Amino acid sequence: MAARAIGNATIEKVEEICGAGFKPARMFPKFDQEAFDAQKSWMVPDHVEPGSDRLVGSVHTWVVKTGKHTILIDTCLGNHKDRHNPGWNKLNTPFLERLQACGCHPDSVDFVMCTHLHVDHVGWNTRLENGRWVPTFRNARYLFAKREYAHWENEHKTQGKETNGGSFDDSVLPVVEAGKAVMIDSDHQPDPLLTIEDYPGHTPGSIAINLKDGGRQACFSGDIMHHPIQVYHPDWSSQFCSDQELSAKSRRKLLEDCVASGALLCPAHFPGANAGYIKRRGDAFAIEWDVQK
Ligand SMILES: [Zn+2]
Repeated sequence: MAARAIGNATIEKVEEICGAGFKPARMFPKFDQEAFDAQKSWMVPDHVEPGSDRLVGSVHTWVVKTGKHTILIDTCLGNHKDRHNPGWNKLNTPFLERLQACGCHPDSVDFVMCTHLHVDHVGWNTRLENGRWVPTFRNARYLFAKREYAHWENEHKTQGKETNGGSFDDSVLPVVEAGKAVMIDSDHQPDPLLTIEDYPGHTPGSIAINLKDGGRQACFSGDIMHHPIQVYHPDWSSQFCSDQELSAKSRRKLLEDCVASGALLCPAHFPGANAGYIKRRGDAFAIEWDVQK
């Protein structure tokens, strides 16, 4: 898939894995079959597995090149990591080769940004070298939202190496210990084209990253939405949202913000076209996919 232009900047998705996961009734505590079925025709097969109705999800990174900097947004699961989820355990994917195939050598990355610190957003922060976890992007600064980091650092005091399925220990702390982490507030601007917005609820410190150039905008929204059915039902928070109510409130705000700005919404797990424009439909919202030719 080719890079997309946002003004003079480019954005490109690099996928780690993609497949069918949870059934929607398990994913969304507020799931409603009739409401789901009303959208099903366009969701099958890219977003919903035919027959089983399982939700299809991709795990990918967004590569942003502003002309000044190369930025990675969210770093997937990573290789060789011990994980409870069998589909995520000890992966060995050619992710770094795919990154290089789109002109992004690991040493060329200036900033790594994680929308939040869940296990599937921090994995490639580190790689295994001589039995140790070391920062994969050795010339990069890793920008973590202060509030998000503080939350998981506190969880780590009681949960230890179980924190975020092991990822805090093998994918976050080694970056901090190597002196490569910078804890940021939402007024931090790593590049003149980038701004940060707080959308708490999925996790306490979840952020979206906005890229703006030449009258165009892209919004990298992490897991504020996992699946496009949530565009149509923003009150459907996922079972992985730490605060169901706050997550729904932030999701609705994100949709309203995207309508107002005309931003291309680029979530972390939407398969198919991966990104789209949010439109108002009365009191509700719809997505128009940005299909690449
Ligand atoms: Zn995720």
